[in-house]
Amino acid sequence: MDAILEVVKPHAVLIPLPAQGHINSMLKLAKLLHFKGFHITFVNTEFTHKRLLKSRGLNALDGLPDFKYESIPDGLPPTDVDAAQDIQSLGESVKKTCLLPLRNLLAKLNNSASSGVVPPVSCIVSDGVMTFSIKAAQELRIPFVVFRTISACGFLCYAHCRSLLDKGTIPLKDESYLRNGYLETEVKWIPGLKNIRLRDYPSSFRTTDPNDMDLDFLMGEGDRTSQASAIILNTFDELESDALNCLASMFPPIYTIGPLNLLVNQIPQNNLVSFGSNLWKEDTECLQWLESKKPRTVVYVNYGSNTVMTPDQIIEFAWGLANSRKPFLWVIRPDLVDGGSEILSSEFFNETKDRGLIVSWCPQEQVLSHPSIGGFLTHCGWNSTIESLSWGVPMICWPFYFEQPTNCRFACTEWGIGLELASNVKRDEVQKMVNELIEGEKGK
Ligand code: UDP
Repeated sequence: MDAILEVVKPHAVLIPLPAQGHINSMLKLAKLLHFKGFHITFVNTEFTHKRLLKSRGLNALDGLPDFKYESIPDGLPPTDVDAAQDIQSLGESVKKTCLLPLRNLLAKLNNSASSGVVPPVSCIVSDGVMTFSIKAAQELRIPFVVFRTISACGFLCYAHCRSLLDKGTIPLKDESYLRNGYLETEVKWIPGLKNIRLRDYPSSFRTTDPNDMDLDFLMGEGDRTSQASAIILNTFDELESDALNCLASMFPPIYTIGPLNLLVNQIPQNNLVSFGSNLWKEDTECLQWLESKKPRTVVYVNYGSNTVMTPDQIIEFAWGLANSRKPFLWVIRPDLVDGGSEILSSEFFNETKDRGLIVSWCPQEQVLSHPSIGGFLTHCGWNSTIESLSWGVPMICWPFYFEQPTNCRFACTEWGIGLELASNVKRDEVQKMVNELIEGEKGK
């Protein structure tokens, strides 16, 4: 009798960094792989798992027979589920403590596979800063794929951390180098990164400590990424060809699959559409509010999930927006301002009540794709940048940290889609830029 060959689905275990932008893009990748026939296990930390249940409802993580959510502890002491986790401590903790729970999870999945419940795990797709998981992939002798959720230019900067240290460009000699013009120096010898100054490099490089833990962390992640079977980036060749060519000579094969938000929209409607990953509850009424506005007139303001600003900075933004007299949709997270976000005056609210809407979180992609949106004042997180680019929305860039300054530099000088706002934000400058963005030549 002929042997009956049963086709077993490939089974990908996806491990995002438990931070908003990383979870969002990993979920999109998971949906695409599922559409292409993969069985998916999506691994959250317990903290994220609880938070998603809170923001999205108790059925949010039920999954499907071939798309399952699992969770592992992150090793940090338990905290209030509404309080944001410190990203640096999280990265360190995960690196030190998550391998064992991950091994246990993989063993559980492979046990279920032996009784035919799920296919055996056939590859691990790890966030580029969760590469502790390479050990588990090596033990199981399965491919290890790194999904770096940042821009190619940001990735290239991180990849040169060691060479900048070797050349003595970083660390800074002392604190005065933050102010004496040194950061304006152009670093000319790194191919693929034209016209970028030291201040456009990731914020972690602005250190005076040669043994800085962040740099150490980044270099370790880079070394493990070099051992991956393949690397995935949420970008596209036409946008970042120089950086991608340079990366190609330094790393295993790189696959560019961006903009993921556009690709995922092309999946025919299926029962994964409702799977979401926002850690805050979305205000959807703002979409109706946008309906009442004229095309390309509204400035959308959002600084992502991690930016924290000073009370003085938010007041400058507020009066800059008010004085521009343009309609605005402004996302102010409860933890956006150091010391509490509820500090805007009644005078500001009275002045802007007929043209401004403030919410604490929104469905950003729906907002950016709305015809009323004329511009985006953003912190230049990579997801926000590529989402804005996808919908043809010009940006005002106010980078906060990590590789956001690099994205800002490329957006403003290479891609021609952004105007840079000084970090020391002033209301007049905000007003001027908002007007330029919505009705000026540069905005067009
Ligand atoms: N986002 C959202 N609603 C908001 C703010 C952000 O849906 O009110 C989403 C946004 O679409 C993006 C992600 O959260 O996908 C933020 O990622 P990004 O890389 O831009 O910034 P991060 O939060 O990582 O700094």
